Amino acid sequence: MTEKSMTLKTEKEMMEKYLSEPCTTLCKDGHVPYLLSGLAELPLEYTQLDAARPWILYWCVCSLSVLGHTIPGEQKTAILNSILECKSPRGGFGGGPGQDPHLATTYAAVAAIFSLGRQITESPELREKLEIEKLVGFIKKMKQENGSYVVCDGGECDVRGLYCALAVLSLLEIDTEPFAENTVKYIKSCQTYEGGFGCFPGDEAHSGHTFCCVSALKILNSLDGIDARAALRYSAQNQDTATGGMCGRTNKLEDGCYSFWGVAAIKTLCGLLEIENMDTVLDTEKLRVFILTCCQTGGGFRDKPEMKPDFYHTFYCLAGLSLIGNKSDGLGRIDAVHGTFRAP
Ligand SMILES: [Zn+2]
Repeated sequence: MTEKSMTLKTEKEMMEKYLSEPCTTLCKDGHVPYLLSGLAELPLEYTQLDAARPWILYWCVCSLSVLGHTIPGEQKTAILNSILECKSPRGGFGGGPGQDPHLATTYAAVAAIFSLGRQITESPELREKLEIEKLVGFIKKMKQENGSYVVCDGGECDVRGLYCALAVLSLLEIDTEPFAENTVKYIKSCQTYEGGFGCFPGDEAHSGHTFCCVSALKILNSLDGIDARAALRYSAQNQDTATGGMCGRTNKLEDGCYSFWGVAAIKTLCGLLEIENMDTVLDTEKLRVFILTCCQTGGGFRDKPEMKPDFYHTFYCLAGLSLIGNKSDGLGRIDAVHGTFRAP
């Protein structure tokens, strides 16, 4: 047995050990203070990540909102200002003040702002502060002739950039048609024999990239042109039948964060195929128990047992639980296409 397959076996056994005493309760009281620490001064291990400020704010704001924690108005303004500090004079947002703009951090910044609620997004000054024209100009510059997008000047070209660009335009209610020439064709060329989508044509299917492609097509109102049943089958098969957890690729280990990417794609595809009950393709309760038992800690969520929690896994685990929608969790709604908090 190779060292890698030994580790896989041990990690699998660890999950099964945890699941022998299943947890069915969401411990909100521990998660709120953990997330509030992300909005205050960043913990030391994250300071090196100041290239990810919009992301951390997005994960924490969205998680708190989904948990029903009200962020006071003053704190919302401080968060908004902290995000706006990452705005680049070239349009779009960088990972921190003075950094080059990138489509991923632009998405995180705009998604965080939208999750702060109507008061902020409907304020007339906001569009001015965002410098929408410059932002849109930056997105336009990233578009390639073949319909794909590069993530930043000279950066890699894949479906993540494309999704971030379209999600931002859609959140800002900007007509996406002028940004979509050849894009649908490009996305379709990323669907693989497994039914899922790769990061670029010819790449192996991956749950996160399948989410990007399905959601981008939903935004473009063009989902009908793909083999949706194959995409749904692929996404559903990423659930491990023994533990209930979701993995990112065929034959890989379960990880809490795929609860969001997987379930979000399944939800959108079920909508298209008019499948009313997601449970007919996915064992949502088994996934819920997996998240609560293997990924939940006293404060925050993690990839899998024995790991430390982080803001990234906390948000994507909570977002997955929100999409599963078990009433006893009492969570707010996450938009399966944009990944933003939807105020009731
Ligand atoms: Zn993960």
